[in-house]
Amino acid sequence: MDLRTKGIQDTDVLGALERVPRDHFIPEALADQAYEDIAVPIGLGQTISQPFVVSKMTEALELNDRHKVLEIGTGTGYQACVLSKLCRRVYTIERHKPLHQIAEQNFKDLNIRNITAICADGMKGWPKINGIDQAPFDRIIVTAAAREKPPAELLDQLSVGGIMIAPVGSGEGGTGGQMLKRYKKESEDTYSISDVIPVRFVPLLPDVAKDEDVRESA
Ligand code: SAH
Repeated sequence: MDLRTKGIQDTDVLGALERVPRDHFIPEALADQAYEDIAVPIGLGQTISQPFVVSKMTEALELNDRHKVLEIGTGTGYQACVLSKLCRRVYTIERHKPLHQIAEQNFKDLNIRNITAICADGMKGWPKINGIDQAPFDRIIVTAAAREKPPAELLDQLSVGGIMIAPVGSGEGGTGGQMLKRYKKESEDTYSISDVIPVRFVPLLPDVAKDEDVRESA
């Protein structure tokens, strides 16, 4: 109801959010915040996105049940589960091994079978695994902010006619300084770009996180 009054109109998206128990994706000590419309820390300096932003991003993807979707930034897997209710299959990449492992466990616990998750650097796109290429994707969602623009490798993995949603900006300055952007691939080498809403995301960082990073931010 709260998300509806905030302007989310797509009833399929609202239905998908209703069917994913957000408390499952949040550390137990913070579970009482699960149904507030706020981002919540999930460890390693990362956060689970705010429900309004999850629903806005999902709505902007214009999903259907034939779509193959790539997500960059699994976290504990909340957004991936919401997507999984609305598309054929979700491929999701997380650079922090411990978060990737929590997400895998969450997908298992909730009996969700159409998500494939790996621990890797999502800035490079989905890698070929055992000689099998999954790209191109009908939709791509990036849940960490690129400073200037999303990596070209991601736009390369988008199908012609496909949509990518990604936050862009440094996160500096009073307003957070990031804009959620929508990229539509009009042809093999042309895109249209539009602004969705101002947002605040953790930064998109290169490479798989090392153990030292884990200790630093744990
Ligand atoms: N989609 C998550 C949001 C998690 S926050 C949710 O539903 O709650 C964003 C995540 O992006 C963090 O866990 C961070 O570690 C991850 N991330 C940042 N840069 C990345 C990269 N290059 N590849 C994969 N994951 C990345």
